[in-house]
Amino acid sequence: MAKYTMRFTQFGLTTLKEVPADAEIVSHKLMLRAGLIRRLASGLFTWMPIGLRVLRKVEAIVREEMDRAGALELLMPAVQPAELWQESGRWDKYGPLLLRMSDRHDRDFCFGPTHEEVITDVARRELRSYKQLPVNFYQIQTKFRDEIRPRFGVMRSREFIMKDAYSFDLDQAGLDESYARMHAAYTAIFERLGLTFRVVDADSGEIGGSRSQEFHVLADSGEDAIAYSDEDGFASNIETAATFPEGTRAAASEDIKKLATPGIKTIQALCEFLKIDPQQTLKTLVVEGTDCPIALVLRGDHELNAVKAQKIPGVASPLTMAAPETIVRVTGCSPGFAGPMGLDIPVFFDHATLSMSDFVCGANAADMHYTGVNFGRDIELPDSVDIRNVVAGDPTPGGNSTLSITRGIEVGHIFQLGDSYSTAMGATVQTPDGKNQVMAMGCYGIGITRIVGAAIEQSHDDAGIIWPDALAPFDVVLVPINMHRSEAVASASEALYDELQAMGLAVLFDDRNARPGVKFADAELIGIPHRLVVSERGLEAGELEYRHRRDDESRNLKREEALNLLKE
Ligand code: ATP
Ligand code: MG
Repeated sequence: MAKYTMRFTQFGLTTLKEVPADAEIVSHKLMLRAGLIRRLASGLFTWMPIGLRVLRKVEAIVREEMDRAGALELLMPAVQPAELWQESGRWDKYGPLLLRMSDRHDRDFCFGPTHEEVITDVARRELRSYKQLPVNFYQIQTKFRDEIRPRFGVMRSREFIMKDAYSFDLDQAGLDESYARMHAAYTAIFERLGLTFRVVDADSGEIGGSRSQEFHVLADSGEDAIAYSDEDGFASNIETAATFPEGTRAAASEDIKKLATPGIKTIQALCEFLKIDPQQTLKTLVVEGTDCPIALVLRGDHELNAVKAQKIPGVASPLTMAAPETIVRVTGCSPGFAGPMGLDIPVFFDHATLSMSDFVCGANAADMHYTGVNFGRDIELPDSVDIRNVVAGDPTPGGNSTLSITRGIEVGHIFQLGDSYSTAMGATVQTPDGKNQVMAMGCYGIGITRIVGAAIEQSHDDAGIIWPDALAPFDVVLVPINMHRSEAVASASEALYDELQAMGLAVLFDDRNARPGVKFADAELIGIPHRLVVSERGLEAGELEYRHRRDDESRNLKREEALNLLKE
């Protein structure tokens, strides 16, 4: 085995006591403090030596499991010609996330945010016959997405490393098998990484696609909300978890009244003013449409779901809230008093609104609301649509149980693309009976860099990172006490360092001339699983002090005992 030094003094590592101001969540703070990454510019990070060791471990596990699943590794260029994106239709669709550039001949290129176009080009050139199928190509490579709000360190950066895989099959049945194989490989990967995760149904986006699931590492800081019911075996990203028309509506008991509500522009202010619950109010949101603005009406306490709303015919995608001037034009009053009655634009009511009676809503007049409003009497009973986020307690699609909500970090995404790219780009093969057929494609991503942050979100304490064994940058940290004054400690530590390395362990030898407290704090911050302390007193007793990163206390072990423990 190639041996290289892992002495602290030669590792060029600096840890920080202070928490950098722009770091919002714990993984970002700890990665900066432990010296795993350093920021270059917004959403751009350098992986420092210790951070890179962790990153490589993630990569190695992903690579092993992809190989085991029969996928073939290749490496595509990061820079891609615009022509390919024009062929697929995404040059115009992808929007500002796409980093565009041109070369010295004024030819357009982009820095790849993903590689469907390039791989489909490879496939249409290389794959001629059904005999070459199924095949699944993957790479581990740098992507760039010009995120509107890079944050959380490497979890939402602009440049990041992704494992992306693309399967090619003759037909849907083949694609189902390739997809199932990736599902199993991903499950194996996240189990080996030692992460607590959940597989959830996901939105399949704009470009075709029938089936799509995400792998989420569960953590409170996760950007995604997940709706699930273990009883019903249901789990879905809240983006796509469906709501359903509700049953009954109580009869009207109040008369409709127009009420002065001066300066009351939010649901919260309205509820305080009228001493009512948000459930008794309607909110009317005006959004941009393809032909004219569109009003979306929800119960006051519910949240609009952008992914669902932008699928309504006539609603602009991506969902865009109307500008104040537009709201004034369509409602005839300043924002804050919009209501569904008397609007001249299309109005869509969320399912949940139809079970409300005697509710309050804006009157489309400055400083005015209606109270005691009822469907069937004041508003003609409309059809309803699903445009809100589910909330805890909503029924599951089966209707047998109710949903709970938890938060997750999307670390993987598997996706049945079907024939959208292969049709657009003419990727066909010959079938057994000599016809040409477009191939069925799947794509499968894993956020390699994001996983490092997600692992820390899931496992840390006040002192620092607690790596799952599979990700730890070192197995053991060796801490000599007073090595620079004690010849006995120095020689015993050097011998131990060699012996541990010979056992195949990755050992960080803290050979700094620093106080024990400093060394212990750094070892805990970096999150190394096992710690061995060599001291003069210990040597006299033939003992080493051992502590696991998760233990509360250290214990003294005979040298042999300690080595045996590490061997296991
Ligand atoms: P998100 O919804 O988080 O923006 P996405 O759905 O756009 O991600 P995919 O196109 O599915 O991302 O990419 C595959 C994987 O790449 C994601 O599951 C995620 O782990 C990772 N990833 C995507 N965007 C970023 C980013 N900006 N920084 C780090 N990792 C990312
Ligand atoms: Mg995704």
